[in-house]
Amino acid sequence: MTVRRKLLIATRNAGKLHEYCQLLADLPVEVTSLEEEGITEQVEESGQSFVENAVQKAVEYARLSGLWTWADDSGLEVDALGGEPGVRSARYAGPNANDEDRYRLLLQRMRDVPRGQRSARFRCAIAIATPDGRVEVAEGSCEGKITLSPRGEYGFGYDPVFYVPEYGRTMAELLPEEKNKISHRARAARVAREILCRMLDGG
Ligand code: IMP
Repeated sequence: MTVRRKLLIATRNAGKLHEYCQLLADLPVEVTSLEEEGITEQVEESGQSFVENAVQKAVEYARLSGLWTWADDSGLEVDALGGEPGVRSARYAGPNANDEDRYRLLLQRMRDVPRGQRSARFRCAIAIATPDGRVEVAEGSCEGKITLSPRGEYGFGYDPVFYVPEYGRTMAELLPEEKNKISHRARAARVAREILCRMLDGG
C-alpha cells in the first residue's frame, strides 16, 4: 500500500495553489496550504536569484511545518535592462504599485529600445524541501519579447506586455489553458513533479 504523504504548497496565492493541486492530483500526496496549516510567518525573499528565493522559502517553511514543502519564485528578465526586473519583479515600481504601474514603468524604461532588442523571458524556480534537510530544485522559462504597448485581458503581472512568438499574441491574449501549457511555471512544475515522484518512490 502506498502511504499518502502530506505536502505543503507554500503560497498565499489561491490561483497558484489551485494550479499546483491539479498538477499533483494523481500523486499519492495530500496537499495542504500555509493557510490550512495556520502558518502566518512571512519568509523573506532576499536572494539574488529565483532559485535562491525558492530554496529559502521551501527550507524555512519545511522547518516551520515539519512537512515536505513545495515553494516557488518567478519573475521577468529583460535583456536590454541587464536582467531587470528579475527577482524584483513584484516590487519593481515600489511597495504600493499595482500590475499596471509595473508594466507601464517597464515600457517607459524601454521606450528607446528598438524592436530587435526587446528579448525577455519569464523564469520560475520551484524548490522541494524536506524537514530533514533535503532540497531539490526545478526551473522553467518562457522566451518572448516586450511589446511597445499593452494588449490582452487574461493573466496577471507583466502578461499584457509580453509577446509570445509561437502564438503571435501577448501572454494576456492567451486563454488560461494555452498559457498553462507553455508558461515558465508550467514548465518548472512538470520537472518538479517528476522530482517529487522520484522522492515518493524513495529515490
Ligand atoms: P511570484 O513568484 O508570485 O513572487 O511573482 C513575482 C512577480 O513576477 C509577480 O508579481 C509578477 O509581477 C511577475 N510574474 C511572475 N509570473 C508571472 C506571469 O506568469 N505573468 C506575468 N507576470 C508574472
